[in-house]
Amino acid sequence: MTLRARLTLWYTAVLAGVLLLFGAALYLLLTRSLTAQIENTLAQTADDILSASRRDIRGITLPPLDLTANVYVQVWGADRILRVESANLMSMPDPLDPQALDVTVPTHTTVNIGGAHLLILTVPVVAPPSSEILGRLQLASSLETVDRAREALLLFLGGGGVLAVALAALVGLTTARGALRPLDQITQAALQITRADDLSLRIPVGYGPPTDEVGRLTQAFNETLERLESLFETQRRFVADVSHELRTPLTAIRGNVDLIRRMGTPDPESLEAITSEVDRMTRMVQDLLLLAQAESGRLPMAHDLVELDTLLLQVYKQAKVLAQDRLDIRLGREDQARVRGDPDRLKQMLLNLVSNAIEYTPADGTITLSLSCVGDRARLTVSDTGPGIAQEALPHIFERFYRVDRSRKRTLQGGAGLGLSIAHWIARSHDGQIEVASEVGKGTTFSVWLPLADMTAPAVEPQAPVRVERPSSG
Ligand code: ADP
Repeated sequence: MTLRARLTLWYTAVLAGVLLLFGAALYLLLTRSLTAQIENTLAQTADDILSASRRDIRGITLPPLDLTANVYVQVWGADRILRVESANLMSMPDPLDPQALDVTVPTHTTVNIGGAHLLILTVPVVAPPSSEILGRLQLASSLETVDRAREALLLFLGGGGVLAVALAALVGLTTARGALRPLDQITQAALQITRADDLSLRIPVGYGPPTDEVGRLTQAFNETLERLESLFETQRRFVADVSHELRTPLTAIRGNVDLIRRMGTPDPESLEAITSEVDRMTRMVQDLLLLAQAESGRLPMAHDLVELDTLLLQVYKQAKVLAQDRLDIRLGREDQARVRGDPDRLKQMLLNLVSNAIEYTPADGTITLSLSCVGDRARLTVSDTGPGIAQEALPHIFERFYRVDRSRKRTLQGGAGLGLSIAHWIARSHDGQIEVASEVGKGTTFSVWLPLADMTAPAVEPQAPVRVERPSSG
């Protein structure tokens, strides 16, 4: 069953139920109140008659009955012989209600006599002061007005109720159809997007007010599509970049292998080139794995107290070995600072920045490492006097596989454009951030901001494996 039909059915059923309850209550109330009126009249008349009568042990003596045509009266003796009756009964020989002639308390009954529906009140007549029952007074009044009123009400409630329910069903169906039409349109649009396999399509807004449920659904759906499109695009670019980056070393390896085959003997130069390309590919795959694990949140991250000054000193020593007297490596300001995090990852981040500086700064340049505390944050900087980075490239350097000059000849240690992405991720996962300031021809400064740790906990010395190798590309 469709949602539209279900909604209409529920709506109509609830309305019908309410109408039924309301109608039944009204019907009972009207019947009760009209019958009570007639009962009152009968009781009043009985009182009038009894107070005008004389009663003793010899029997009942009644004055001539002067009654309205609406009330019929009979007086029966205890011997079941009719004593008196009102003229409007036209000498009716039988009791109005023979069943009730034995009652000992005033009793109401209803009877049908000759097609007339009557309400009977039977009152026992006693002779004061004794409580001996001398006979019974039976009064009757027609229930025709009550019956007619009840019939009219039934007709009105029945007819009106059916009409109201039918109208409600119609209106409900029309409203539900109108309200749910945008959903059909959204379904059509979604199917079209699937059929055309085109995630750039969007569901047109305007099927209803943008703030109602359907408007919000459309907006949410479009946002999901947008996110999916960007994810697919990222994935597509990623696959293209990885293939591109792998193709170059593979081509180089292939060329060298061909050379060795042609020459018949493996010459040391070709073997060196092959080793270097294999190393490059290994580093790239390691970096990619690291980034993939980081992005999926599966990379374990320690939460130790790390002394940044000690860490910086270790990186400084490593940088000196890497630069091999080609560059001047300096240690600038070095405050004492402790942060909470993973010492290995923090070191990897600094080494990525330092090895970039070493790689891009020409001989006789200077690289300065420093650490300062600013407010509740530590600031680590790596400055170089290298070529700098063009302003338009700055927003992209932290993207995966981004290299300012793609055609630049790679150095032996050159990376695939992943080093800064990894550094950026490490800074972010320590609740920090990484900034770059650069001027073409003058140099570049990378600054990493990290929140200082609570000084009460004991510190953990960063391990110092002085590995003289580039930890990752970049
Ligand atoms: P790569 O493996 O190419 O070094 P990175 O992600 O580490 O990749 O860096 C991205 C790009 O940013 C580099 O290709 C380079 O063009 C630029 N870059 C990074 N550090 C420096 C620097 N200190 N001086 C000049 N350019 C830099």
